[in-house]
Amino acid sequence: MATVEQEAPERNGIIQDAGAIPVENPATGEIIATVPDLSPEQVAEMAAKGRAAQPEWEAYGFDGRARVMLRAQKWVMDNAPKIVETICAETGKTFEDAELAEIGYAGAAFGFWAKDGPGYLADERIKSSQVLVKGKKLILRYRPLGLIGVIGPWNYPLTNSFGDCIPALMAGNSVIMKPSEITPLTSLLLAEGLRECGLPENVLQIATGRGATGAALIEHVDMIMFTGSTKTGRKVAEAAAKRLIPASLELGGKDPMIVLADADVERAANFATYYSMQNAGQTCISIERVYVEEPLYDEFVAKVSEKVRELRVGKPEGPGSVEVGAITFPPQMEIIKDHVADAVQKGARVLTGGNQTAGAGRFFEPTVLVDVDHTMKCMTEETFGPTLPIMKVSDADEAVRLANDSVYGLGASVFSRDTERGEAVARRVQAGAANVNDAMINYTVLELPMGGAKSSGLGSRHGAGGIRKYCSQQAIVVTPKLAMKKELFMYPYKSRTSKALAGLFRFLYGRGQRD
Ligand code: NAD
Repeated sequence: MATVEQEAPERNGIIQDAGAIPVENPATGEIIATVPDLSPEQVAEMAAKGRAAQPEWEAYGFDGRARVMLRAQKWVMDNAPKIVETICAETGKTFEDAELAEIGYAGAAFGFWAKDGPGYLADERIKSSQVLVKGKKLILRYRPLGLIGVIGPWNYPLTNSFGDCIPALMAGNSVIMKPSEITPLTSLLLAEGLRECGLPENVLQIATGRGATGAALIEHVDMIMFTGSTKTGRKVAEAAAKRLIPASLELGGKDPMIVLADADVERAANFATYYSMQNAGQTCISIERVYVEEPLYDEFVAKVSEKVRELRVGKPEGPGSVEVGAITFPPQMEIIKDHVADAVQKGARVLTGGNQTAGAGRFFEPTVLVDVDHTMKCMTEETFGPTLPIMKVSDADEAVRLANDSVYGLGASVFSRDTERGEAVARRVQAGAANVNDAMINYTVLELPMGGAKSSGLGSRHGAGGIRKYCSQQAIVVTPKLAMKKELFMYPYKSRTSKALAGLFRFLYGRGQRD
């Protein structure tokens, strides 16, 4: 059956004052800071400053820019405790989710783009089969677009929000980052760090604000890098299309996991548990649904339920305190509850969890659902919470058909001891990435593109495309100085040269038989 795309909830929870945005710690309910809600006029001023600062930054060259990025890498390591504290305070996530998936990513990304960025953007000498350019120098070069807008979500304020500024800067652009209004503090802290590392004034600016600030940003930049819901992504694409600027869109997902009958069931159960509950399920590439071949189904379900039951949920108190942290965005809690209630009402069983926890902070119990099918929202819409619906399938074909029965196509995973068969199944899944006997790990491979198929996005981050998208391409053709005064095909037309040229084309392209 057709699947439906999740409606992004309205942001109506904690925000009242139109001029300032309070930032809440979701694990305690306390307001920990207030940031400005920037107006379109203020965004326009920032854009003018960013444009003025860009040429000097471009003139730093790869070496100069790499030096700043490598200093920033060390700055992140030196300041990791403060960054983790900031991330945890504004998201309510666990120490481990911040340290591993955010500090670990930032450390790797600053180094990767500093070292590999120049190679991806180096001039390419091109060889051509075109006879008309024999002897000429052909170059493909990448030049920075100018001013880049980066708009990010709340689930990873450093990794997939601020993280996209790194290649944009390394390419020689100035950047204005519009972090989520829910989690603006991490970006502000990182911008402070980059200034300390020698990034010139106004090359990176943080535009705090809500959706309207993001919309205003698109009106001024040369390219927009957006990460967020599919619903907002469409609006961003429309706004970019009106201005004819490129947009790179990293959107929602409903990642399937397929467990074949010959899988290592213990490994599959551990991965299903971790990658569905990590970051309280608030990862675009979380495992959101599982399809298990019938012979392994009972054992897999028993193992996953047991493992999920043991997870501790609640307010993180430093390393090793809990496995599952808070639900960061208030309206997300309503979506999670709705998906569980909808499934139960249609016949699903809750094996563990199923409820919001009582007391301070916003937490949802790690939840396993069975007897699920594609009439239920939990199997077709992005839940973005600590829930794992598991469905029994008769064979791999049914698993692939159901995995592909989705508007989304971000990531996927397949578990099988027969890696060739696993890879063959992975190739049939319509997703931007597919892991065999693993999940989500592709995100850490900065050399590989990370992007969505179908309604999960356009374009990708990471790899060559992840930095070239912040540049325009320029083709350069250089004719040596000892060239003829004019080419043979030029005026005046003469029968002899025209016939010779026609003969040349027949010789080059007309040989051999048509089959
Ligand atoms: P969202 O779409 O509600 O908001 C994302 C950002 O867009 C926020 O900064 C918001 O202020 C801004 N925004 C809102 N309206 C705008 C407009 N009209 N113009 C410009 N900007 C506007 O998403 P969210 O709730 O913050 O994040 C959760 C979603 O992000 C999930 O769907 C998740 O799957 C997705 N996500 C995707 C990836 C990926 O790499 N594909 C990574 C992380 C999160």
